[in-house]
Amino acid sequence: MRRHHDLNRTLVRFTAFTLIELLVVISIIALLIALLLPALSRSRQSSRNLQCLNNQRQMMIAVNTYSNDNDEHLPFTGRDYPHFPVMDFFELGLRSYMASPLIGKETVVHCPNDEHEPGYWGAWWNGMYGPMTQSQHHTSVQSLVGTAIPEVVHYSYQWTYKMYHDVNPETGYIVAALRRYKVSEVRFPSNLVAMHCRGEVPSDPHQYENDPNFNGIFCGFIDGHAAYVEFAIMNPTQIGVYPNGSKNTDWTLWGVFGRDF
Ligand SMILES: [Zn+2]
Repeated sequence: MRRHHDLNRTLVRFTAFTLIELLVVISIIALLIALLLPALSRSRQSSRNLQCLNNQRQMMIAVNTYSNDNDEHLPFTGRDYPHFPVMDFFELGLRSYMASPLIGKETVVHCPNDEHEPGYWGAWWNGMYGPMTQSQHHTSVQSLVGTAIPEVVHYSYQWTYKMYHDVNPETGYIVAALRRYKVSEVRFPSNLVAMHCRGEVPSDPHQYENDPNFNGIFCGFIDGHAAYVEFAIMNPTQIGVYPNGSKNTDWTLWGVFGRDF
């Protein structure tokens, strides 16, 4: 009888203890989650950033292979902005030089940071070039490729304007005339932003100045490397700056003969 009583007391004490302990454990777990979540999110972010840089490295390798097959010339189709830097550049210039398919989101032409709709580029140009939906992009290049391209393609990258336009020899300003350059004409291949990613750019350009995270861009270079370049180290350009003081690498002074930083 006494033994039975002792057992009951032990059980009660034990249950009460584990309840408190459970609460402590739960709060410790909650604390750990709160501590670890931002780190996890940062780690996912940095892996997406790495993928963006890797995409650009692969594309710059394709650009170099293209130039080997084309008398050292950089990709060029003879069509002007806005066709060339997006559809023509990838479809006509690089498609046959890239192992990755260009369809869907799992491709080298799509940055994992890019959450814009596929028609993002069209939205960007809306008003200046008329509404260009994704299918209109494809229609615009079909006649050159020879076949229909019905797939939805998420292009996140841009071949900068200066890479295929002439330069005023007196002022160093980029002019409207098209010009096809050779790789060897790029004077500072590791300091000239040939390509950059728009995946990290806020959808609304008027938000740039309010976005503390938008302080640089992921860029690809003719020498084959890719890097995040902070606007703070960039040189002033012909047109100047985005609203928050960042530089527009389309308008590098002296174009391919100049340097962005
Ligand atoms: Zn990116």
